[in-house]
Amino acid sequence: MLDNHNREINYLRVSVTDRCNLRCVYCMPKEGLSLLGHKDILSYEEILRIVNVAVKTGIVKVRLTGGEPLVRRGLIDFIASLRKIESLQEITLTTNGILLEHFAERLFQAGINRINISLDSLNPGKYRDITRGGDLHKVLRGIEKADSVGFSPIKINVVAIKGFNDDEILDFAKLSMSKPYQIRFIELMPIGDTADNNQQIYLSNDTIRGKISSFIPLEPVNGNREKTDGPARVYKMRSAMGEIGLISAMSHEFCESCNRLRLTADGHLRVCLVSDDEVDLKSPMRAGCRDSELENLIKKAIFDKPKRADIHCYEHQRKKCVRNMSSIGG
Ligand code: SAM
Ligand code: SF4
Repeated sequence: MLDNHNREINYLRVSVTDRCNLRCVYCMPKEGLSLLGHKDILSYEEILRIVNVAVKTGIVKVRLTGGEPLVRRGLIDFIASLRKIESLQEITLTTNGILLEHFAERLFQAGINRINISLDSLNPGKYRDITRGGDLHKVLRGIEKADSVGFSPIKINVVAIKGFNDDEILDFAKLSMSKPYQIRFIELMPIGDTADNNQQIYLSNDTIRGKISSFIPLEPVNGNREKTDGPARVYKMRSAMGEIGLISAMSHEFCESCNRLRLTADGHLRVCLVSDDEVDLKSPMRAGCRDSELENLIKKAIFDKPKRADIHCYEHQRKKCVRNMSSIGG
């Protein structure tokens, strides 16, 4: 359905857990993070009910995220149940890739259409540092496995971080030369407990683009017309098999074309990534509400989706967004 600002809202990101097997420094605090208890998180049945109702309002695409979605037990059966919802055209997944080698084949068979894998360094030591303990080789094996079972195009999410991976931008970009991957550079956002630090290490995508272009010109993918893929502006290095995506939430606002809603693991519908104004769906469901009431709550939330977020301003932002990215789902 259309929201109050004439945007078609057709995409729901579902965080299936707030737990994660990594602790990326820009996403989660090192310690002191309180995690949801078992009864606080939505059961798979509850998520299925919400998605079934959401498709009636026009949702056609669902992305599973987290926390780390692959750490939640029963995910494959849940995906197979989601797949049975006829009007759902696409189910995608965002993962840190640590468990992907193990799950890739079953994810593909269960009906995941596409996968995004987060990877912020190609250096094992640096990867371990930024994720507070992750093993780069597991992720690389996961990517290869996802490729070999047939996922395409694979998208690699790279959060650009000043003083950390700015010396690896070209190495990442070059991955798109010989593989049909889309390498997506994501600007760091001031969300939750890590907001203060993120401000210090923010790196703009204009800088990234400049670095790549000084090596090889970036060409628009569709002739002279700029291609967009969701919030990403998409380019190509000459004669590359894959693409470069720039997701510039801080420097190039894309609220005007936002088509998404987010469902948090504790059952709150979040209509804007950076606004803590949420609609609680879990309580009414657990109090026995009817599907029609649930549908009205979702429709009202869509209708009231704010026109834009004050996303350019780190100061303003920090005061508004209390949740950590790991509990929102990215
Ligand atoms: N654990 C999975 C993963 O890392 O892909 C899925 C959840 S994670 C929250 C989803 C995406 O959000 C990842 O690509 C991650 O790099 C990104 N992310 C987390 N914190 C961020 C921040 N403060 N600014 C920008 N992107 C962020
Ligand atoms: Fe976990 Fe993903 Fe957040 Fe890293 S970005 S801590 S992998 S949820």
